[in-house]
Amino acid sequence: MKKTATGIVLLGLIFSITILGCQSSQGPGKNQDVLFQYSTLGSLMAGVYDGDLTFTELGQHGDFGLGTFNALDGEMIEVDHRVYQIKSDGVAYPIDDSMKTPFSVVTYFEADQTVQLDGPLDCEQLKKSLDSLLPTENIPYAIKITGTFNEMHTRSVPRQEEPYPLLVDVLETAPSFEFQTIEGVMLGFRLPDYMDVVNAPGYHFHFITADRKSGGHVLECQVQGVTAEIDYTDEWHTVLPGDDAFYQVEMSNDEYK
Ligand code: ZN
Repeated sequence: MKKTATGIVLLGLIFSITILGCQSSQGPGKNQDVLFQYSTLGSLMAGVYDGDLTFTELGQHGDFGLGTFNALDGEMIEVDHRVYQIKSDGVAYPIDDSMKTPFSVVTYFEADQTVQLDGPLDCEQLKKSLDSLLPTENIPYAIKITGTFNEMHTRSVPRQEEPYPLLVDVLETAPSFEFQTIEGVMLGFRLPDYMDVVNAPGYHFHFITADRKSGGHVLECQVQGVTAEIDYTDEWHTVLPGDDAFYQVEMSNDEYK
């Protein structure tokens, strides 16, 4: 009788420790380290520019991220739970939550590592520096770089009309923008090679100025004395469109830059 009672007490103790263990690794409640993606970059490359996910719905999956808008109407950046539409005039506009996205990637951003990068570093050197800080190349990371950028070269994409051209053709004539000594936030993701076609392996950044008035998809940059925050992500959730355009498309992202 006594022995059985002890056994029950011990079992109870082990159970409590297991629950506490889960809480300390993921925080109480839901795991926030989830990369949420709508559709695939391969389908966007192939000209599937209309999706069915609203920004109200996207906002339930993260406070940080990047993507684009239906009809490929500009570059999307989400920072501190606010979504901006950087149109082909280079201006960042606030959005209406009922607007929809054909491709977006978001997460709840919570830095696991914060470092100061002295520089000066161009974008390629910056990526190498970030690489040297990562524990593995085999998980996705969300990355936020804040400070003054010596140089920033971005682009946006103009709204398209049907029948939609391939993304690579749109990018050939896409307008680009140059900034010097500009304060802002450059944010995005570093994804493993195995996420090819589904998304872009390596780094993908969007930029917005500190006054939230301008930005775009980052082409080139030079940083000096910026803060880099890195969020390790161990879960990946993708929602796919259910329409004919997505069902019929042949995907490839070979030409993504
Ligand atoms: Zn982009």
